[in-house]
Amino acid sequence: MLQGKTALVTGSTSGIGLGIAKALAARGANIVLNGFGDVEGARAQIEALGVPVLYHGADMSRPHDIEDLMRAAAARFGRVDILVNNAGIQHVAPIETFAPERWDAIIAINLSSAFHTIRLALPAMRAAGWGRIINVASVHGLVASVHKSAYVAAKHGLVGLTKVVALETATTGITCNAICPGWVLTPLVQQQVDAKAAALGISNEEATRRLLGEKEPSMQFTTPQELGELAVFFCSPAANNVRGVAWNMDGGWLAQ
Ligand code: NAD
Repeated sequence: MLQGKTALVTGSTSGIGLGIAKALAARGANIVLNGFGDVEGARAQIEALGVPVLYHGADMSRPHDIEDLMRAAAARFGRVDILVNNAGIQHVAPIETFAPERWDAIIAINLSSAFHTIRLALPAMRAAGWGRIINVASVHGLVASVHKSAYVAAKHGLVGLTKVVALETATTGITCNAICPGWVLTPLVQQQVDAKAAALGISNEEATRRLLGEKEPSMQFTTPQELGELAVFFCSPAANNVRGVAWNMDGGWLAQ
């Protein structure tokens, strides 16, 4: 279904980004990988699906790195057809003690990076008459939780950016939508489970149960595989007129 298309997924060496990259690769898309950590492990998982992979180690907090990433993707594959803005970090603290440099990093990586990739990807998508932009926001793009000021601000901003881009491309073959996961058990969330277990002196299992119980009626994590399949739907012809939505996959979090 996506043979001949190129998908750039930021922050795709781990977690949700890797899940989305694998789902798009399984449909035949060339993959541009980005992120830190176990790069070779991620590359091997995608190459096993039989598609070409380009890795670029851009730090998504740096506009200059992002320009280089977009240039490298175009040089290797011609252009980016599917742009998935997924790279993100978290920091949890009350606002009075929230370190300003953490605020700046979260806004840069979770929000501003998407502005840069989108502005750089759109001209080639317009020329081709087709494109898919998928922003991995969060339920925190739609509702808040305590101690996540920067994250909630960035994700609300990303949902707003999604709507503007959807409007500016509304008469074209390019769509822009956001995915809003609830809890997904990735390293980003495991840190929050560990912190809860340590703070309350409880087991990892009990901390996980309480974390889910506070927000997620299903008491189940959404998986990177499930989110990957939602991204595949957004790339399908059936989603040609799905524009500017913020689609939550959250075990009922927002239904409450
Ligand atoms: P993760 O920590 O498993 O993966 C994050 C990815 O981003 C990694 O590949 C990491 O190397 C990369 N990354 C981090 N900083 C980067 C930088 N400066 N430049 C380039 N890459 C960078 O986390 P995840 O849970 O898979 O999160 C992915 C996205 O999903 C994030 O935007 C996050 O906010 C969002 N999200 C996660 C959850 C959840 O429950 N895990 C829920 C809703 C939304």
